[in-house]
Amino acid sequence: MNHWRVDVDNDGVALVTFDMAGKKVNTLSADTIAELTEIIERIRTDDAIKGVVVTSAKPGSFCAGGDLSHIKSFAGPGEPGKEAETLAGDIARMTKDMAVFRGLETCGKPVACAIEGTALGGGAEFAMACHYRVAADSEQVVLGLPEGGLGLLPGGGGTQRLPRLVGIRESLPILLQGVTKTAAEALAIGLIGEIAPVGQVIDRARKWVLETGDPVQPWDKPKFTVPGGGPYVQANAEAIAMHVAMSRQKFYGNYPAQAHILTALYEGIQVPFEIGLRIEMREFIKTVRTPQALAMIRTLFLSPREIKSGANRPAGHPVKTFKKASVLGAGLMGAGIACVQAQAGIETVLIDRTQEAADRGKAYTATYLGKQIARGRMTQDKADAILAHILATTDYANVRGSDIVIEAVFEDRDVKADVTRLAEAELAADAIMATNTSTLPITGLAQASVRPENFIGLHFFSPVERMDLVEIIRGEKTTDGALAAAYDYIAAIGKTPISVKDSRGFYTSRTITCYLEEPSEMLVEGIAPAIVENIGLMTGMPVGPLSLPDAIGLELPYHVLAQTKRDLGDAYKATASDTVLNFLVEKHGRHGRRNGKGFYDYSADGKVKTLWPGLAELAAPVITDASRDDVKDELKKRVLYRMSLEAAKCMEEGIITDPREADVGATMGFGFPKWTGGPISLIEQVGIAKFVAECDKLADRHGERFRPGQMLRTMAAEGKTFY
Ligand code: NAD
Repeated sequence: MNHWRVDVDNDGVALVTFDMAGKKVNTLSADTIAELTEIIERIRTDDAIKGVVVTSAKPGSFCAGGDLSHIKSFAGPGEPGKEAETLAGDIARMTKDMAVFRGLETCGKPVACAIEGTALGGGAEFAMACHYRVAADSEQVVLGLPEGGLGLLPGGGGTQRLPRLVGIRESLPILLQGVTKTAAEALAIGLIGEIAPVGQVIDRARKWVLETGDPVQPWDKPKFTVPGGGPYVQANAEAIAMHVAMSRQKFYGNYPAQAHILTALYEGIQVPFEIGLRIEMREFIKTVRTPQALAMIRTLFLSPREIKSGANRPAGHPVKTFKKASVLGAGLMGAGIACVQAQAGIETVLIDRTQEAADRGKAYTATYLGKQIARGRMTQDKADAILAHILATTDYANVRGSDIVIEAVFEDRDVKADVTRLAEAELAADAIMATNTSTLPITGLAQASVRPENFIGLHFFSPVERMDLVEIIRGEKTTDGALAAAYDYIAAIGKTPISVKDSRGFYTSRTITCYLEEPSEMLVEGIAPAIVENIGLMTGMPVGPLSLPDAIGLELPYHVLAQTKRDLGDAYKATASDTVLNFLVEKHGRHGRRNGKGFYDYSADGKVKTLWPGLAELAAPVITDASRDDVKDELKKRVLYRMSLEAAKCMEEGIITDPREADVGATMGFGFPKWTGGPISLIEQVGIAKFVAECDKLADRHGERFRPGQMLRTMAAEGKTFY
């Protein structure tokens, strides 16, 4: 066996340890399921085995669920003309996969599960297919079925076993909203049988097998009834109605999976268990065949994996290792970059103008690590070792020996040029000099460098320790070797790279700008601000278009526009963003959340916000009611299509070249709605020809900004796709 170990002790208890080869966490893939099936057969037929304890060899993780490349093979309707065969094949495959858990719980021997870490999705379903569950008294234990929140459906019996274990009411938030449970919470609702001190979990599970050892699941007993009753019991009916409303409020009906999960639960709970499983399978296949699920599996799971494993790294350059890296500027970004470098075990020099500022930057990591310790995710020793990787200093002599330098000082050409010269004086010839600028062209900044061929842009996102994306920007003189090294550095710190051309706003900033621009157009047209804000949320963007600039600070987009105007001169075309920002910032001194006034008025403690009535001055009201579906749909399209059009334009202009990177960049970088799979996937979901036709209509009604470019028209005419 490659992924499992089976050790039978003197009492006949088989300890089955899941230890997927070559992976940090266990997942349910075709290989691991095939081996588990063999193990179950042995358990069933070997008389020497009296009972089973299932556990994991991976620290902090029991099982992370289904391998999504496996699930992806279900997605999509199949080739034209072969839809029926594809469906039949999917059903046969799913039935085979599902049989593994059913085989486990009907093997005739008691099976207990020892959980010492996360058991999510298929991992939780695996645990529920055991007859008894013991979890460690540890914060690392997390149980849940996150599929619903990711546009998928737990198809390994989750929609059937969970309600039969804990009742309909407790199941709803777990299934529909992806609510997770700690060990104590899981015990309180009956999802696990007991909590054991860390280190004793396997012993307790073994004890249950030897002393209680019931090999029949509750739902396989003749007089089984669902805890709390069926869906017609009043409390359950009320809970279902409430959770339908809550999932609507959270997901705005954008995830078809939600309705399928509810159907599986509602119908499945009223019939015998095995028929319930078949209903779940039917709903699972319906879900994975939606274009939304296909796009999400691709952009949220598969593409990041491909990109991270170097899909776009220039070939033919040896992999560079990063032992020492210096960060210039210990402000918000520099401190965050130092924090991720130190965690990756890279010796980090953190430089600022004063020792105090440098120390403050290092303290950021100390605070971050302190929180990890408080949450039980890290030991003090480990935290001390990480912090010891950071040297806070003002002395550039410490830069010597660095494999890379990341400059994150003020957004000012002269300041950046100064520190680049100081750092390069200490650097070896092959070291990389990177800048974290968010707006200044890399080629211009490279003029201050003595070896522009090794100069590159690495655009991190804030907060660095949480945001996984880094935009790599190549200057005119940057070589392939330096680009490859940048990929290696990003891999070393565990982030996801996308590669973009040196141009105004790079890729993500340019695309997200439309999320300010189109809502501004709406405001100056006279669409009520509350509608504009809510339409943004309804598209699935994580923050409303009026709240977002308030949170960032309105001076930022205001200054960016002013700079663009200066740079472009007569070529600059003012948009509604200019009107709205001038009105708020210049005329009314409203700078956003920080000064308590922006699109919103904020209470003194910042906790309560109400839309500023003065916005009414922008335009006479034209639309104050968006309850009609056609009105709502058009407004939503305006918001989403503007961003998709901009992303397509970036592809047309070669700013970004890989659709996977465009989609991953937008979803990871600024929260482009997950259900779409990204701005390019959205175009493909709609269909390129239909998207072009709809944009033409929007252009006729609202202006040339919606007119699609030649690339989309040609693709539509030739029936081409991005993926
Ligand atoms: P910040 O003001 O928080 O930090 C800048 C730091 O640089 C300060 O600590 C300052 O003392 C230090 N500094 C200034 N001049 C220096 C010098 N000569 N030598 C050494 N240190 C010096 O700014 P920030 O938000 O961290 O931004 C830094 C860079 O990152 C900017 O180029 C910005 O455009 C870019 N960026 C910012 C964000 C963001 O969300 N804030 C995101 C991506 C990129």
